[in-house]
Amino acid sequence: MDFIPIARPLLGDEEIEAVSEVIRSGMLVQGELVRRFEEMFSSYIGVRNSVAVSNGTVALDLALKAFGLKPGDEVICPAFTFIATSNAVLYQGLMPIFADVDPRTFNIDPGDVLERVNRNTKAIIGVHLYGQPFDVKAIGEICEDHNLILIEDCAQAHGAEYDGKRVGGFGTGCFSFYPTKNMTTGEGGMITTDDDALAERVRLLRNHGDLGKYNHVMLGYNYRMTNIQGAIGLVQLGKLDEFINARIRNAEYLSLHISRDGITTPWRDPRCKHVYNQYVLRVEDDFPMSRDALSSHLQSRGIGTGVHYPMPVYEQPLYRQLGIGSRCPVAEDVSRRVISVPVHPGLSNEELKRIADAVNSAG
Ligand SMILES: *Cc1c(COP(=O)(O)O)cnc(C)c1O
Repeated sequence: MDFIPIARPLLGDEEIEAVSEVIRSGMLVQGELVRRFEEMFSSYIGVRNSVAVSNGTVALDLALKAFGLKPGDEVICPAFTFIATSNAVLYQGLMPIFADVDPRTFNIDPGDVLERVNRNTKAIIGVHLYGQPFDVKAIGEICEDHNLILIEDCAQAHGAEYDGKRVGGFGTGCFSFYPTKNMTTGEGGMITTDDDALAERVRLLRNHGDLGKYNHVMLGYNYRMTNIQGAIGLVQLGKLDEFINARIRNAEYLSLHISRDGITTPWRDPRCKHVYNQYVLRVEDDFPMSRDALSSHLQSRGIGTGVHYPMPVYEQPLYRQLGIGSRCPVAEDVSRRVISVPVHPGLSNEELKRIADAVNSAG
């Protein structure tokens, strides 16, 4: 009985061939293949511009940087997310303000965001957590009413849709291509925007502010993507819809077959296409085992699990040291209940059945 990992990137002969070609060409760094990957990504998302960078954290960092906010400006982000979301705010000397999340979607709660908007607020970063879009309509309206920048952390949501439109096209989109995401380039990231001037600033920041031939017009960085990553990205993007459809099929199977008092399967907002980067169960109080005991039970049945994430960001030692963040009760509650089980596109029917059976027989 093979162990079922929580994530498994699907890379094959096409990716190997594409990488070999780059190596044979000798053109390793950012060039034609990165340009083609950006073009294909723009057309997939439905935006005017995509700018490839070295990872998803850098995408968030540069998106914030390009807006030219001032030290001390406040940026609202969810308390329940991967730490990169709010770390990008810190990199820019800005102040992350944590908002609570919705207990069903685990996404940023527009009502709580509104409570935290004040005259220092300059931007909101929404996270499409686990592959389910946040309430883009409500958050978008808050941004319009208060003249705030909207940044979408799309690291877990390539191909997810809200009202039939792909995420990354509502505000400034920030994607990651880390191997656990819905498509990968090893490390890699992308910024998407319809704003041509913003895209131009991001392109300059990515490459030492160089307008060409050592003409450096601003303090930039080396945050470039390589042609090797671009070549993998082109192949992976061609397979993305296939990957997503398999994730959705797997999630539907699990939701149909997992049936236990005390276990809540994921809730899908009917306005959204949820692309299930993670399939996350909630362990309720009437379940006979703790979340951690359930995790050990699944492990003993050869099933990998994850906890995304074990605490609100403001409870992380770093944020405690900085003294940043006020309490978010829903984020605290759900962080102690969530458990992710495998949903990746490589799962066989037999493996899916093993996962559902193992949850159903726990306790
Ligand atoms: C993965 C992830 C990131 C960071 O992306 P990297 O490519 O690992 O730097 C940011 N935000 C969220 C929500 C993520 O899941």
